[in-house]
Amino acid sequence: MASIRELHTQLICKERSAVEITQEALDRIQLLEPQLHSFLCVTAEQALDQARQVDAKIAAGEEIDLLAGIPIGIKDNMCTKGIRTTCASKILENFVPPYESTVTQKLKAAGAVMVGKTNLDEFAMGSSTENSAYQVTANPWDVSRVPGGSSGGSASAVAAQECVVALGSDTGGSIRQPASFCGVVGMKPTYGLVSRYGLVAFASSLDQIGPFGRTVEDTAILLNAIAGYDPNDATSLKVQIPDYLKALQPDLQPRGRIKIGVIKETFGEGLDPVVEQTITKAIDQLQTLGAEIHVVSCPRFRYGLPTYYIIAPSEASANLARYDGVKYGIRVPDAENLLDMYKKTRAAGFGAEVKRRIMLGTYALSAGYYDAYYLKAQKVRTLIKQDFENAFKQVDVLVCPTAPTTAFKAGEKTEDPLSMYLGDLMTIPVSLAGLPGMSIPCGFDESGLPIGLQLIGKVLREDQLFQVAYAYEQSTPWHLRSPQIKSAANP
Ligand code: GLN
Repeated sequence: MASIRELHTQLICKERSAVEITQEALDRIQLLEPQLHSFLCVTAEQALDQARQVDAKIAAGEEIDLLAGIPIGIKDNMCTKGIRTTCASKILENFVPPYESTVTQKLKAAGAVMVGKTNLDEFAMGSSTENSAYQVTANPWDVSRVPGGSSGGSASAVAAQECVVALGSDTGGSIRQPASFCGVVGMKPTYGLVSRYGLVAFASSLDQIGPFGRTVEDTAILLNAIAGYDPNDATSLKVQIPDYLKALQPDLQPRGRIKIGVIKETFGEGLDPVVEQTITKAIDQLQTLGAEIHVVSCPRFRYGLPTYYIIAPSEASANLARYDGVKYGIRVPDAENLLDMYKKTRAAGFGAEVKRRIMLGTYALSAGYYDAYYLKAQKVRTLIKQDFENAFKQVDVLVCPTAPTTAFKAGEKTEDPLSMYLGDLMTIPVSLAGLPGMSIPCGFDESGLPIGLQLIGKVLREDQLFQVAYAYEQSTPWHLRSPQIKSAANP
């Protein structure tokens, strides 16, 4: 599939219709889904309807938005009115939202064409998309490997060009890590920049919706469309949203030399040597482009992981209390009384990882342990934030690997949650601090698996991330490579 801008040009020049473009995406989905399993549901009819509306507008000579007629995937934890939203959980198997999330509402208004809802780890808890109650998504670069998670369906769909762009959500890395594993661009915006209204809550102080694209420009166009204040979300920021496309300049120099800090603590033990070499080369490239490179220290970065695994499960245990067989989703029929019904419904509806987190969180919040765990974690969270603030006194943007390894084999870590959790080492501190973070493709390992460079910005300085990302992308060939996916028709 072409880029948003190319497709937009084709549409307004009437070279192709939105229906044709949508059909191209739907055909590709049909061809590749037997291998990839990126989508939990494909909304072909609604998509073609939406495309027809765009075509009618063009025929009537009306102006259309850049996103009009562009096929998009939506992670299945964002509410879509009248379209089943499962969060990849059995407990929401039959949940059809009566309302639309703010982000999908905005995309609809722009004329974007949703082609389906993408797979995820159940309630966005995981790093491989293997915790979905329905299917395991494959990595398009090697279908025996995971696409990362929890937004693995969105990342895989974009990498495989089953859609042009997609939305994911990121609580501790769920956009950036799958972007890295699938060789696409993924951004987690500043906490509060994008409305969470209609996003099924996992850990509310961390959850943030963000865009995936194959290029920095596509990603910026999508962020432009979804960012902005929303009175329906109490944590939404009332700020002026810049046009992120203005930040895309091929040169890093014109606005004065940008200062980039390399986080010292993210190198060394646990980091795959190929990832380390690739990231080092990427940093050299940034220097060649005119950036001033500094080495900075975030000494408390390494406490991010244990801190997150107290805070996120604590919030999850509270958020997931609402699934009780009464208000949403399934209800186990053969219960003796109300309590029994709650218990049986939750036992049948939640998967192992979700139950593990609910137990961890309930424990950390219990009267005797609250101070020792939850309160302590909140204090450490503040220290981690301070580390970033100190680093940002010296530099504009921070860089480090997105993930310590490339995509691992499906099944490799499912029995060992701790090793799965360790994969989020580099992304979690950014979430705890509420900062914007982005993963961009920066090379491949010896097996041809993509590697991601993480860029971290100051609060609300997404523009600087786009600036660095675009200059880097335009001077490197990584975004031009596509995965060759074997299918029945293409063995
Ligand atoms: N992998 C992390 C977890 O399992 C992050 C998930 C996310 O960002 N939603 O919690």
